[in-house]
Amino acid sequence: MLAELPHCTQLVSVSLLSLLSRIDEDLAERTREDRCPECGGPLHRADYLRKPRGGPDDVPDGCLRRRSLCCGREGCRRRCLPPSCLFLGRRVYFGCVVLLILTARSGDRRRHSARELRRRFGVSWTTVKRWIAYFRETFPGSRQWQAIRGQVSPSVRSDCLPESLVTEVVQAAACVEQGLARSLALLSGCPAGWMHGI
Ligand SMILES: [Zn+2]
Repeated sequence: MLAELPHCTQLVSVSLLSLLSRIDEDLAERTREDRCPECGGPLHRADYLRKPRGGPDDVPDGCLRRRSLCCGREGCRRRCLPPSCLFLGRRVYFGCVVLLILTARSGDRRRHSARELRRRFGVSWTTVKRWIAYFRETFPGSRQWQAIRGQVSPSVRSDCLPESLVTEVVQAAACVEQGLARSLALLSGCPAGWMHGI
C-alpha cells in the first residue's frame, strides 16, 4: 500500500496534517509542564511559522506552526523544542512527505522516477538522495536510533531505514495515519512513555 506513490500523494492530506498538528500541540503542552531543563524555570510558548513543502494547497495555519517553548526566567531564556510529528528536524518538507517518499521509493524504484517525484511532491532528486544518504549512512549509527531500537520490533532492519520502521509501525497501528504519526513521533525523539497516546 505504501509502495504506491499516487496513494502516498493522497495520504498527505489536510486530515493527516491536522492530526499531526493536534499531536504536536499535545506534545508541546506536555513539554511545557516539565519546565526548563536548564534551570527549572517556567516554559512559555514561543511558536513560529514555517513554510513546509509537499503538502496540499489548503493547509490550515496550525499545520505550519512549529511548536516551541522558551524559558521565562531572566538570564536563562533557553529555547526548548518539543518533539514534532509535523516536522522532521530542519528539513523543508513535511516529515510525513519525507517518510512516504522514501518508503514508496523502496517498494518500486523504476516507477518512482525523479520526474514523478518532482511532479507529485515538487521535490528534486538531489534532495531525495540527501535524505536517503542520511538514513542509510548517518542515522543507523546515531544515539537517536539506539533509543528507538528498543521501542520497536526486532524485525525492523537498521540497513533499510526509514522504510523498514515505517512499514512495521504502520502495520501494527489501527490505521495508516496513526502509524505515520507514531513513526514521526519516534523519529522526533518522543519519550517512550508518551507514545501510547499517539
Ligand atoms: Zn531556564
